[in-house]
Amino acid sequence: METKYIFVTGGVVSSLGKGIISSSLACLLNARGFRVTIQKFDPYINIDPGTLNPYEHGECYVTDDGHEADLDLGHYERFTNVHTSRANNVTTGRIYQAVIDKERRGDYLGKTVQIVPHITDEIKRNVKFLGNTGNYDFIITEIGGTVGDIESLPYLEAVRQLRWELGQNSLCVHLTYVPFIAAAQELKTKPTQHSVKALQEVGIQPDILVLRTEKEISPEMRRKIALFCNVAPDAVVQSKDVNSIYKVPLMLHSQHVDETVLRKMGVTPEGEPHMQPWLDFIDKMDNATETVTIGLVGKYVELQDAYKSISEALFHAATYASYKLRLVYIHSEKIDDSNADELLAGMDGVIIAPGFGQRGIEGKFVALKWCREHDIPTFGICLGMQCMVIEFARNVLGLADANSTEMNHSTTHNVIDLMEEQKNISNLGGTMRLGAYDCRLREGSLAAKAYGRLDIRERHRHRYEFNNDYRERFEQAGMECVGENPAAKLVEVVEMPSKRWYVGTQYHPEYSSTVLSPSPIFRSFVDAAIAYHNTK
Ligand code: GLN
Repeated sequence: METKYIFVTGGVVSSLGKGIISSSLACLLNARGFRVTIQKFDPYINIDPGTLNPYEHGECYVTDDGHEADLDLGHYERFTNVHTSRANNVTTGRIYQAVIDKERRGDYLGKTVQIVPHITDEIKRNVKFLGNTGNYDFIITEIGGTVGDIESLPYLEAVRQLRWELGQNSLCVHLTYVPFIAAAQELKTKPTQHSVKALQEVGIQPDILVLRTEKEISPEMRRKIALFCNVAPDAVVQSKDVNSIYKVPLMLHSQHVDETVLRKMGVTPEGEPHMQPWLDFIDKMDNATETVTIGLVGKYVELQDAYKSISEALFHAATYASYKLRLVYIHSEKIDDSNADELLAGMDGVIIAPGFGQRGIEGKFVALKWCREHDIPTFGICLGMQCMVIEFARNVLGLADANSTEMNHSTTHNVIDLMEEQKNISNLGGTMRLGAYDCRLREGSLAAKAYGRLDIRERHRHRYEFNNDYRERFEQAGMECVGENPAAKLVEVVEMPSKRWYVGTQYHPEYSSTVLSPSPIFRSFVDAAIAYHNTK
């Protein structure tokens, strides 16, 4: 089968969930046995989101091959179980950089370099890159931003040209919003009509319209939209608010979106998608009655997207244990000795979040001391693991000024220190220790039990590491280094065997947790939190 390209655009407002719609469609096609991948084109100038503050676009997701990516790639992986890579997330910055590099090399042979055709050609080359590998039947391309944005124009022009070139092997799904006007008690279709018009003005006719709505959209209203927008009535579907993003694939399937997509692209749909494992997950989610409460201590708690992969990984783990998850965000800048008891006593388990820099760090130490002393299941991730090490050094080993050199250059006890290969780096973009690395776990450790094997591979995003000069002192005092990168001897996992569940990982296991393949270490942590809950 020739590779088929599905473009997903959005209109009216942003944040409608193009990523979830793309992921859900991929999930359904995947469940029909097709090989699918999803890619996102982000119309900003940053080369990648690695240097962006999480307040801008939420968490930075990391792929296996070490690309710092938009958080939508996390949804793609969670919904499809298919790994993404550097090729799955391209920004305007990368497009321009490639074109400018070619210009400097003289590749354009003296021509004037222009947005059309040079930028658009580079976009098209990137759109087709994964398709040309021959590894996929369907490439779903999400165009970031909304139709009508200045920044999106070159992308839409590239899509217009590709649709012309690809013919039936391409399709456009347009996501819009149908607002409910409370005063009139009415749903309004006008913004959708305008949005489709804006798309048509740049030469793109959508094939499928997905209408985001809080209320049921009647068949008449859908027919009206179909009529005004030149779209077949059965290709106008609604995406009504649901209580879990993981129900969106089912909602789309109930409106035959997967079949419509296939038919429009000349493929006869056969049978039904194999959704049983997914349905079992939804069943567990819907039937859970008991609740496990996890506290997440971090500094970006005002914006929950900043910890998206962690909250999803926790949700997967709780669901597999047939529990509901109550996730309580605890601001690390607001926790101190006077309120730790009040903020933490109700938790069944606590996560100390990843992060960078000094802000909120003291609160993490307070929380860790409290959790260690009260022996409640505690999970430190990346900076959270580093904080576990520092807190232990200060309060158990008695090294009062122990610190990471990230926070204090001249500390006498640099229990966390800059990695050797980081010492001469001045460029901030894409230069951390990034992506999947091997880790060997100690036999008999909690981590080894959690994974059920000794050799694992998880993703990373850090510059600092555990200082091996201190390893023995930690081990003797009860914090063991039970995971290590075999090549670099870098400490990947610490744990305190004397505690219920007190584990820190230098890596980020949250990035690889998916609906059908939840993270083993998150499952072990949540199971421990549930066991603790049941002792109370
Ligand atoms: N700031 C720490 C480092 O660079 C931890 C990074 C993180 O939590 N992702 O090593």
